[in-house]
Amino acid sequence: MCEFCTKHGEGRKWYLEMKNYSRELLNEPLTPEEQEASGATTRAEYLATFCEQFIKPAATGEPKTVQQVLQTIVPSALRNFAAGNIAKAFEDHKLTHFGQVVTLEDAERVIDMVDSITRLPCGCRYLTTGKTDKRYCLGLGVDAQGMLSSFLNGDSFEVLTKEEAKSIIRDYDTEGLVHTVWTGVTPFIFGLCNCDRDCLAYKSYIEERGSPGFFRGEFVGEVEAESCSGCKDCLKQCQFGAVFYSSALGLVYLDPTRCFGCGVCRAACPTDAIRMVPRREQPKAANVWLTYP
Ligand code: SF4
Ligand code: SF4
Ligand code: SF4
Repeated sequence: MCEFCTKHGEGRKWYLEMKNYSRELLNEPLTPEEQEASGATTRAEYLATFCEQFIKPAATGEPKTVQQVLQTIVPSALRNFAAGNIAKAFEDHKLTHFGQVVTLEDAERVIDMVDSITRLPCGCRYLTTGKTDKRYCLGLGVDAQGMLSSFLNGDSFEVLTKEEAKSIIRDYDTEGLVHTVWTGVTPFIFGLCNCDRDCLAYKSYIEERGSPGFFRGEFVGEVEAESCSGCKDCLKQCQFGAVFYSSALGLVYLDPTRCFGCGVCRAACPTDAIRMVPRREQPKAANVWLTYP
């Protein structure tokens, strides 16, 4: 179990705890540490700013720089980062907008739990590619404050049924997009994202080896050697460099110490040779949550 499961999930998966999506939590006063880290007084206030600064520009094409957006998401983390206090910056990031990789099955469980699902334009892809029509984010729960409706744009927002959301997310899985859950002042969960290398968090954490922006998932992949044909389709699908090909054996090896547990390699395997096992059952991966080699 990751640190958030211990702190916010009562020992179970924190993102499957209903209270972490509740309106009560959204409106609960923040601790002084949370206020300092988020620059807001309530989670709802923080989310309103987040939507205005991150989602709205992606929906409307209104120019914003990465720096402006990051200033909104984790203001104190940026200040601490600039001052060279990396450890404090990282801890502040965990208090505000932090994520975790989830498998397709857990993503579907999340969809089953929430009241409403709104498909939104992806703020990261807007900032990294300039595209405004990449609707890979699923906003979760009731828009209690009317944040989204205040700038609703019929082309950019779609209210989905649970079955529509599941169908879309299965397609994303096949496409190789990594499913992630995200908080808006932790532990309130407001987004189920589907990410690739255009994700800001991926870029800073994985590409640039910066401080982590999300936990690894609760599972790791395992390859059944007898079923592997050596086609390498899974290797092409993995965004974390966790799959290696052995020319001597003519099959792949999956490195559990690199695996983030997203499961999208499994979706690509034509012989069903990959299964997801709980991280705690894989000794090499059991306690690896936040580092990347
Ligand atoms: S976390 Fe993923 S889906 Fe969400 S905004 Fe960033 S890239 Fe887009
Ligand atoms: S090897 Fe791990 S990280 Fe890579 S695609 Fe498979 S489950 Fe995801
Ligand atoms: S996709 Fe499946 S069969 Fe192909 S190399 Fe990977 S594990 Fe083996």
